[in-house]
Amino acid sequence: MPELVRVRFAPSPTGALHTGGARTALFNYLFAKRNGGTLVLRSEDTDAERSSREHEASIAADLRWLGLGWDEGPEVGGPYGPYRQTERQDRYALAIARLVEIEAVYPCYCTPEELEAERAAQERRGEAPKYSGKCRALTAVQRTGLEAAGRVPALRFAMPAREIYVEDLIRGSVHFPAGTLGDFIVLRPNKTPTYNFAVVVDDSDMAITHVIRADEHLPNTPRQVALFEALERPLPLFAHVSMILAPDHRKLSKRHGARPIAEYREEGFLPEALVNYLALLGWSPGDDREFFTLEELAQMFSLERASKSPAVFDEGKLRWFNAHYLRAKPLPERAELFEQAARDAAGASMQADEGWWQRFAAAVSDHVEVLSDVPREVAALQAEEISWSPDTDVELASAPVRELLAELLALAQSDRKDRFAGVVSKDGLKALGEKYGLKGRSLFRPLRLAVTGSEHGIELPLLLPLLGAPRVARRIASSLQRSTTGRRE
Ligand code: GLU
Repeated sequence: MPELVRVRFAPSPTGALHTGGARTALFNYLFAKRNGGTLVLRSEDTDAERSSREHEASIAADLRWLGLGWDEGPEVGGPYGPYRQTERQDRYALAIARLVEIEAVYPCYCTPEELEAERAAQERRGEAPKYSGKCRALTAVQRTGLEAAGRVPALRFAMPAREIYVEDLIRGSVHFPAGTLGDFIVLRPNKTPTYNFAVVVDDSDMAITHVIRADEHLPNTPRQVALFEALERPLPLFAHVSMILAPDHRKLSKRHGARPIAEYREEGFLPEALVNYLALLGWSPGDDREFFTLEELAQMFSLERASKSPAVFDEGKLRWFNAHYLRAKPLPERAELFEQAARDAAGASMQADEGWWQRFAAAVSDHVEVLSDVPREVAALQAEEISWSPDTDVELASAPVRELLAELLALAQSDRKDRFAGVVSKDGLKALGEKYGLKGRSLFRPLRLAVTGSEHGIELPLLLPLLGAPRVARRIASSLQRSTTGRRE
């Protein structure tokens, strides 16, 4: 029987979930789904000062918002729990006892200052920094002496003096020659386990079959491999997913996509757009197709199609995906999202008639990429004061245009609502224009300028009913007044 796939997403709850972490979580989720496997969420909270339950909860909430559920984890439990590293001390103690027993670790008494001085000297000599191993050779007498002097040791793992290969499903075989990796700490003087040690114990205890994570962890992997081997535990398979770079090919920065997922949510991005976009950062379906639901991705995902070259994060492309998913929503649902976005934004409390939000959503969808664009569109429709440029005033000053505007003003002010409704259709406007010898651009351009002050925007037959007769009347009246002034100048 083939081994059941078990993968894990193991965030340190020291901050919010960012795009990089979300992409790692997504790849683990997709791999688990594709293979009928299990996804474990593990909280790597050994850094007591920086970790918090609030961060843990916010990461979980962001994963859920993205639709990335997990099978085992801190709150849901599972057969391999507990799933918080701070609750797994007894497991670490057992593994430490074993490492002590087989003499794979030794006490190290070096102080941070001594280690720093060693590092600085190596750098001056142009060498790569690496622990010298000097505490390896201490005699029992020397150890007792140091302890009597009050030194509390860390425990260091003695790296074997042989080369180490990491077989990586994405990068192939990665070779670390003998002697390149120094002995590393597994237990700090305060008895807390280090990342490289705890991760091995956990991955092994939790029967993880595939470790899929960011490639910044690749240099840690040979250390972990050596530990797995010393503990005689089976090695998982490794897959280090490519880096995500900013558009200028530098490290992803806050300005370029290294943003918390929550920020995208608050800005009005849709989870399905983010998921789709993140899936394509370092994975490709093998053809030109770009749009995938989470379910489709889960059917297609494979590590063979994951790339080892860095992916480039392009926020413009993400917005483009978002616009696509917004437009694909059925109109009533889109209208509800738009209304919510407008009402959430300060000052966008609009009294709207029955059906207004649907007409609004239909009219502005081409101008909205993310929901946070919506309040701007609402504000443009609601504004009492609009800005006209002096050129506009002159453009509106011609006699036929003024006569046409005057008639539209009268219709908008009429007590009979059907008269305004009748004229603002495409045909109605055309017929009105004909009376004054205006058609096409020479009709629509001045009309639009008169009611919005700008040259582009929503089509007039959609725009005028959205503005409503009273506002159209006020705007035309004011543009007529200004264009008179413009003519006199
Ligand atoms: N806690 C590590 C991190 O957040 C996880 C590394 C791993 O997946 O092994 O980077």
